[in-house]
Amino acid sequence: MAGLNAARLLHREGISFRLFEARDRLGGRILTVDENGSQAEDGFDLGPSWFWPEMQPAIGNLVAELGLRAFAQYSRGDTLFERAAREGPSRLPGMAQQPQSMRLAGGSAALIRVLASGLPDSALNTSAAVTGLRLTNFGIDVTIARDDRQPEHISFDQVIAAMPPRLLATAVRLDPAPDPATLDLWQGTPTWMAPHAKFFAVYDRPFWRDAGFSGTAQSMVGPLAEIHDATTASGKAALFGFVGIPAAQRKSIGQEILIRAAVQQLIRMFGIEAGLPRATLLKDWAADRLTATSADLTAAGHPSAAGTEWVTGAWAGRLLLAGSETSETEPGYLNGAVEASKRVAQAFCDRN
Ligand SMILES: Cc1cc2nc3c(=O)[nH]c(=O)nc-3n(C[C@H](O)[C@H](O)[C@H](O)COP(=O)(O)OP(=O)(O)OC[C@H]3O[C@@H](n4cnc5c(N)ncnc54)[C@H](O)[C@@H]3O)c2cc1C
Repeated sequence: MAGLNAARLLHREGISFRLFEARDRLGGRILTVDENGSQAEDGFDLGPSWFWPEMQPAIGNLVAELGLRAFAQYSRGDTLFERAAREGPSRLPGMAQQPQSMRLAGGSAALIRVLASGLPDSALNTSAAVTGLRLTNFGIDVTIARDDRQPEHISFDQVIAAMPPRLLATAVRLDPAPDPATLDLWQGTPTWMAPHAKFFAVYDRPFWRDAGFSGTAQSMVGPLAEIHDATTASGKAALFGFVGIPAAQRKSIGQEILIRAAVQQLIRMFGIEAGLPRATLLKDWAADRLTATSADLTAAGHPSAAGTEWVTGAWAGRLLLAGSETSETEPGYLNGAVEASKRVAQAFCDRN
C-alpha cells in the first residue's frame, strides 16, 4: 500500500521509478481471497478490513479519490461474551459503533488493484526481492533477487523502502551499515499485527443475523479472542476471528487442530449451524517471512513514530522509509501507510 501510493504520487509528478515487490502479488499485508484461499476481486480480508474515515482523513480521502465503495461493518444485534469454559456465552445488547468501522466493497485489495492500474506495468516488478543496498558516488546500487536467476544490480538515484523498518533491518543488507542507533530503531519498531492470525468460517447465509446476533463476540476461552461478521458487500456470508493464542503456541498446535477448535467455539457461541461452514480460512501472519521476523512472535503495542528521524548518517536523503510503521500520525494502520507514503513522496519531490 505504502509503496504503491508513493509510486502513484511520484508518477503524477512525472518522476520515473521502479517498484520491486518480493511476493508474487502486490498488496503485502492487504490480502483479499475467495473461499478457496485464492486472490479475489470479491472476497474476505485476511489482512486489514477496516478503516475509520471520520478520524483517518488520509485513507478516507484516498478511498474517495479512487472512487471505491465503502460500507459499514455489520454490527446490528446482540453481542456474545464467553468468560469461562464452564459457563455458556452471555448475550448482551450491542452498541452502535463509534466511530463506525468501514470496509471496502470487494475487500481491501480493491485499493491495491486501483492503485496498480494507474501505474505503468513495466515499472511494477513482482517476485523481485531487494536483498542489498550499496551507497555509491552516484546513488544506490540495488541488489534484486528473483527466483531462478542470478542477482541483478540496478543503480538508482534514491530508494524508498516501503516496508516495515524491522523487516528492512533483517532482510536487506546495507553497505555501509547504518549507524547502530538507527539499526536499533528499525529493529525495535514492532510491525503492526505481524504477530497475529485471522480465521474465517464461510457460510451459505448469515444465519446469526436471523437470531438477532451481530456476529460480534469476545471470548476469554478461545481459541478466537474477538469475532466479527465478515459478510461481503455482495452477500457472501462469513464470520472472522482474531486467534488469541500466541504465535509460538499456534505453530506447535498446528493449523488443523486450531481450525477444528475455532469451529467448535463458533458452535458454542452461535449454535449448531456454525458447525457447517462451506469453507474455513486461516492466515498466520507471524509465519509469513515477508511480514514478520522472529522478533514479531510476541505481540507488541503500536509503534510510535512521532518526530522520529528514520534515516541518519551517510544514508540520509538517499534512503527514505515509507512503510506504515513510519507514519507520524497513525503508525501501523492503512491510514499510516497512506500518510507515510505521502510524506516521503513530498520529501522526494521537494528534493528533485
Ligand atoms: C491481520 C491484520 C489485520 C489488520 N487490520 C487492519 C485494519 O483493520 N485496519 C488498518 O488500518 N490496518 C490493519 N492492519 C495493518 C495494515 O495491514 C497495514 O498498516 C498496511 O497494510 C501496511 O502497509 P505497508 O505498505 O506499509 O506495509 P506492507 O503491507 O507490509 O508492505 C510491505 C511490502 O514489502 C514487501 N517486501 C518485504 N520485504 C521485501 C524485500 N526484501 N524486497 C521487496 N519487497 C519486500 C512485502 O511483500 C510487502 O508487500 C492489519 C494487518 C494485519 C496483518
